[in-house]
Amino acid sequence: EFSRSAKLNGIGVSEIIRIGAEARNLAASHDDVISLSAGEPDFPTPDNVKLAGINAISTNQTRYTALDGTAELKAAIRRKFRRENGMDYAENEISIGAGAKQVLFNILMATLNPGDEVIVPSPCWTTYLDMIRLAGGMARVVACSEETGFRLSPEQLAAALTPRTRWLLLNSPSNPTGAVYRAAHLAALGEVLRAAPHVGVISDDIYEHVLYDTAPFATMAATCPDLKPRVVTVNGVSKAYSMTGWRVGYAAAAPEIIAAMAVVQSQSSSNPCSISQVAAIEALDGPQDVIASRRDAFRGRRDRIVAGLNAIPHVHCLLPDGAFYAFADMRALLARPELKRRDIADDAALCRYFLHECHVAIVPGFCFGGPGYLRLSYAASDRMIDDALDRLKTGVNRLL
Ligand code: PLP
Repeated sequence: EFSRSAKLNGIGVSEIIRIGAEARNLAASHDDVISLSAGEPDFPTPDNVKLAGINAISTNQTRYTALDGTAELKAAIRRKFRRENGMDYAENEISIGAGAKQVLFNILMATLNPGDEVIVPSPCWTTYLDMIRLAGGMARVVACSEETGFRLSPEQLAAALTPRTRWLLLNSPSNPTGAVYRAAHLAALGEVLRAAPHVGVISDDIYEHVLYDTAPFATMAATCPDLKPRVVTVNGVSKAYSMTGWRVGYAAAAPEIIAAMAVVQSQSSSNPCSISQVAAIEALDGPQDVIASRRDAFRGRRDRIVAGLNAIPHVHCLLPDGAFYAFADMRALLARPELKRRDIADDAALCRYFLHECHVAIVPGFCFGGPGYLRLSYAASDRMIDDALDRLKTGVNRLL
């Protein structure tokens, strides 16, 4: 009889993927299902990038490439870091994988020993926790509340450090809260890390370009250049250029870490897709105007969805500074006796109600370590957002 390996104890397919599948199943028999559960832009890949991919196929760029990415794409990534982040990296400080997700997995596999700890501010993308466990490490989850803008404070960081801490894993803008760490926040965390030389930082910058206000994007290795040798900066083309399906992500780090990541990749997937790498060069080097126009579209949708959510009785939602998620506080609603009587006791039950009674798919906050909250992706058209908000409001009023 088949039994899973002990490595998989407590690890399943991500709850977000499960809810997406449940919504698709429901959509097969109902044509009015709206999904606000996806973690990807709804825009198409830009035409110039698609053409670069087609051209890569036509010119037979369809073979194995260098293990952790072509020299050409590494050069384009180095130009990106210089241009957008003011950071210089050598070619042997860049690694490319099949999405930021694989890159993160490679980092953790390549660096964690059993019992090594990774500090993860929460709410967070729970994939981090599962990956840390698969890599043999221990996640040290630090709860960050709405009062601190869902950001880790320097005091919380100092209290979470132990001799076994290997990494602090930061994600700004954040999935699911949309929280953004400004240069001043990073500088304050950097000050704590200066006294802890055994600790590195993994900076997951995948939502860098989905940032709404005028303050420039800040990342640890640029804000604290003296810490750069112990920072791994992770990014990719998925969210910035609507290229989630192409699977290209990358990291910049010290050469020893990059070399160790290459070992992991060489014995698992080998090189990222050759065609996608060519397309990614065009994304990074080609016209950048899609970034601003799509960000402006996301900003309008953010304002729309947050205003709509706050107009629903007992619902409260902060205005997120980045990413394309609203993280709505449903705790006041869940505390209502009317919901208790209907057995809607938590965020998961509320999501089931919204899916089955209102045909709106939303991810419960518990999936991110934020029970009592819901994550609504607004990577959807204005019409879909308005329609979903109407249904949620009607659905809530029907409960009260
Ligand atoms: N990091 C965060 C916080 C994410 O939300 C995601 C995708 O949902 C990723 C990384 C992975 O992106 P990709 O593997 O598509 O590059």
